[in-house]
Amino acid sequence: MVKLNFTVDENYLLAHTLYYEFARPYAGNEAVRMLQTKAKRPISRVPSKCLYFRAEDILGLPFEKLPIDIQHLSRELVPTKEFRNVLHETQDFKAEVESEWLSNYNDGSRLMKQITKLDIRNREFTVYITHPSLSNGRYAGKGRICWGTRPPQSWPGNGSYVTVYMYHEVYHGILSQNDAKVGIVENKKVPHALIELATDNELRVRMNGGAYPPLVGHSENDNAIRAIENWMLPHWKRYLLDDGEHILAFDERMRRRFLKEQSRMLQ
Ligand SMILES: [Zn+2]
Repeated sequence: MVKLNFTVDENYLLAHTLYYEFARPYAGNEAVRMLQTKAKRPISRVPSKCLYFRAEDILGLPFEKLPIDIQHLSRELVPTKEFRNVLHETQDFKAEVESEWLSNYNDGSRLMKQITKLDIRNREFTVYITHPSLSNGRYAGKGRICWGTRPPQSWPGNGSYVTVYMYHEVYHGILSQNDAKVGIVENKKVPHALIELATDNELRVRMNGGAYPPLVGHSENDNAIRAIENWMLPHWKRYLLDDGEHILAFDERMRRRFLKEQSRMLQ
C-alpha cells in the first residue's frame, strides 16, 4: 500500500499563493485576496523575474537554499497575520484531505491493485498542500505531489475525490518510469490518458458506482488527451479483463502502438 505524507511547506505555500496573483488572479477567497494585496508592495521591490518562478522549484528546500528573492518575500510575509490566515485555512484543508484519504485507504488500495495489477506497497510520496481556492493539482517529479483543490460541482457521486486524484498523481510518478524505457517524449499524453481512464474513471466508478463513458477528468479541456482516451478505451476494457498484463506493461504497449497509429489518427 502506497504511503502518502501530507505536509504544508510555508515557503512553497507563500510562493504558490503569490504566483497565482500573476498567473491567474483570484479574489474568491478573502484570506487569499488579503495576502495577495498585502504582497503587492514587497513584490514590487524584487526583480520581476522572481514573479515568474515555478513555485515547485522550491518544494521542500530549507530557507537558506531558497532563491534570494524568495527569501526576502518569505522573511517579510510569512510572519504577517495575512499569511497566517492563509496558512490556517490550508492546514484545515490538509486535515480534511488526510482524513478522506485515510478513511478510504483500504478500499482505495484494494481497488487500485485490482485495476493496475501492481503492488506499490513500498512506494512513498510527499503531498504538498496549498490553499484549496487556487486549484492546484500536479505531480512535480521525484515523488512530490502538489495538491490544493476541492471537487467541482460536476463531480459525480459522493466522496472519493481525494482518493481518485491522489492515485491520479501517484500514477504520474509510477508510469514515468516508462519514459526512459520507451524513450518517447512527444507522447506524454498517452500515459496521462491512461491515468485518467484508470483513476478519474475506473477507480471513481468502482468507488461511487455509475458508469463511463461519458469520461470524467481534469483534462476536460485538453482535446488531445480526450481523443487519446477514446482511442484507448477498447484496449483498456480488454486490459481490465486480462489478468496477465499489469498497467506498466499496458502503458508501454499503448505508447508504442500510439506512435505507430498516431499519424493515421490525426488525419
Ligand atoms: Zn494528470
